[in-house]
Amino acid sequence: MKKLVQYKGKKVNDMKALARYGKPFGGYKMIDVPVPEVGPEDVLIEIKAATICGADMKHYKVDNGSKDFNSIRGHEFAGDVVKVGSKVTDWKVGDRVVSDNTGHVCGLCPACDEGDFLLCPHKINLGLDNNHWGGGFTKYCLVPGEILRIHKHALWRIPDNVKYEEASCLDPISNAYKAVAEQSGLKPGDDVVVFGTGPLGLFSVQIAKLIGALKIVVVGLDADTKYRFDIAKKLGATDCVNGSKEDVLKRCKEIIGEENLGTVIECSGAMVALHQSIEMVCPNATIVRVGMGYKSFNYPINRITEWNIDIKGHQAYSSSTWRRTTKLLAAHKVDVESMITHRYGLSEWQKGFDAMADKSAIKVVFHYDFDD
Ligand SMILES: [Zn+2]
Ligand SMILES: [Zn+2]
Repeated sequence: MKKLVQYKGKKVNDMKALARYGKPFGGYKMIDVPVPEVGPEDVLIEIKAATICGADMKHYKVDNGSKDFNSIRGHEFAGDVVKVGSKVTDWKVGDRVVSDNTGHVCGLCPACDEGDFLLCPHKINLGLDNNHWGGGFTKYCLVPGEILRIHKHALWRIPDNVKYEEASCLDPISNAYKAVAEQSGLKPGDDVVVFGTGPLGLFSVQIAKLIGALKIVVVGLDADTKYRFDIAKKLGATDCVNGSKEDVLKRCKEIIGEENLGTVIECSGAMVALHQSIEMVCPNATIVRVGMGYKSFNYPINRITEWNIDIKGHQAYSSSTWRRTTKLLAAHKVDVESMITHRYGLSEWQKGFDAMADKSAIKVVFHYDFDD
């Protein structure tokens, strides 16, 4: 293992970690934790890049005063294997790896049968769910043997020509790939509306472009006009609609033409966006609902029935999806560089979260800087 450095008055073998407290929501605290002990089947990773996900944002600035430890956060991370247990044969020190964002699964349910590990009802995600292992907002992350024994693809090797920070974005890239390429039925020559300008929306734009969509319309809000609309256009959006000021239905129908509006990828999570999606599409259309929202549906169901509209829920991706998106990254077919707008040391984590909150950032990458 790499020699551990003593830093700024802290004990040797301690490290900083950004942890989350409280249930179901709760704030963040930077804490001192020991470097994990490596058991015979475990793999220890030194984090090289960890990115903020939308799922992390919902706990920011909602400190409820709870002292209930939830987890070390950060489920999108990549790094180097720095130590392996005596019984580990699949991994060696020096391997460049990325977590597939799964964590512990049962290996026995219908989702696990299909390689859809993220849909396992018994999943305990590293860096996201309540657990004692922990994620990537720290220096070292342990991937325990009890995870790897059941789900070998909890870790993947990173191709040599893919950077750590690019690999750390494979989670949203794979989500977008599944939504657009595997669920929506989008075909070359089709048009598509994408709601939302966050990572899921903008990676969806890129996948739609790869498939060969002609009109790719992104719907956002006022705050998106400052930075995100320009990036959306750079990545393949043909048009951007400002839902705060423009009539979304009218504009999308004008741009695409009512008869061609057969696919919507809804990444915003806003209920109004789902209603607008249903109202804008042509018969036999498919709407994939990627965004999460907590409001009830509250919409007359007849339009969905009468127009034969297919609304698909979306969650995660399979190992096959991940294999494909990794190949796309290695082939430089997905632009991650333009999506990574901010890089911070973990000590400045609040700046990263603030940049996400005010929408000046799309993807924020942290690196561990407490030893610098
Ligand atoms: Zn994520
Ligand atoms: Zn399972």
